Amino acid sequence: MRTYKSQKIDHQADYPCPCRRSGRLNPITLTEAFGCDRCQQIFVVQEDGYVMEQLSTHYPYKRAWRWTGQQWRLDQSSLNFSYPSLIVMTAFVLMAFFLLLAAIQSPQGVQAIAQILITVGVFVFLGLVFWLAARR
Ligand SMILES: [Zn+2]
Repeated sequence: MRTYKSQKIDHQADYPCPCRRSGRLNPITLTEAFGCDRCQQIFVVQEDGYVMEQLSTHYPYKRAWRWTGQQWRLDQSSLNFSYPSLIVMTAFVLMAFFLLLAAIQSPQGVQAIAQILITVGVFVFLGLVFWLAARR
């Protein structure tokens, strides 16, 4: 696997947009951010100056890029943002699966299991809310 040496992002330089709609990134005056002239997305350069992050509220995790000198490369470390939600989802699916197994073995307990599922759902929801709040 080839490793790409990333370059520091120059706020004065002209960059293409990673959206692949052949947009250009224009520096936004008085900020450390860039705006695309095609997709209207806003990208913020991180403190170290090497990583540019997408400013978005539509995705559960943020996407980030590094500049190789010719093109943007998706920063793999930024994908770590999705791990907590992935763990919660896996745990929930596993719990639902085992509860379903228990329900099949004792049909009279279906109502109790439905209550347990609702309780687990509420806890997962609360966990997600706290996780989202902690990220800000
Ligand atoms: Zn764009």
